[in-house]
Amino acid sequence: KTFEELQLSDELLKGIHQMNFRKPSKIQEKALPLLLINPPQNMIAQSQSGTGKTAAFSLNILSRIDINNVAPQALVLAPSRELARQILGVISHMGQFIEGLKTMAAVPDPSRRGMKYEAHVLVGTPGTAMDMIRRRLLDPRSIKILVLDEADNMLDQGGLGEQCTRVKALIPGSFQTVLFSATFPDHVINFAQRFAPNANVITL
Ligand code: AMP
Repeated sequence: KTFEELQLSDELLKGIHQMNFRKPSKIQEKALPLLLINPPQNMIAQSQSGTGKTAAFSLNILSRIDINNVAPQALVLAPSRELARQILGVISHMGQFIEGLKTMAAVPDPSRRGMKYEAHVLVGTPGTAMDMIRRRLLDPRSIKILVLDEADNMLDQGGLGEQCTRVKALIPGSFQTVLFSATFPDHVINFAQRFAPNANVITL
């Protein structure tokens, strides 16, 4: 399978080429066809870092963004600020040929005090995302994709899983929920099934 066969836009294919990805990794080959189905379906995916999981959920996000609406359409939750910044780097790199694409980190930033988060894609930690939505600095009404990366890691850090659930509850309407985790012990399976109901489940 090639990226071309996944029917990605020319802009995304250029971005992929720029990143020197020659063909989809295993997880991308398995996840992308299911992620890109319309109407969108939830996904629970097992994969470690290093497998290309970031690109897998990022390509789905970038394929679904309506560039004419500069409002948060995708929200990615990560267990740490460092990981959030890395993911943001991948999304902006891969989306560099999508004209007008705005991405933003939803991490605490004192210099942004009171400023609204106006971007197509936001990547942040659950606590900050929750805080920004509650303070009406992040409008959740246009969100159509919610991604939770490293769910096992998230649940290991007491309270972060709960915060993800709260963020999810603040998003109105229907949206696609995508959950990635490296491992699936029972408590992660239970959480994942509640967080992303009726999901397609893929393992590497
Ligand atoms: P991740 O699993 O998201 O942490 O990605 C691991 C590494 O694999 C990153 O450095 C990516 O740039 C790289 N990568 C992801 N997808 C591909 C691909 N299809 N071909 C080559 N490298 C890739």
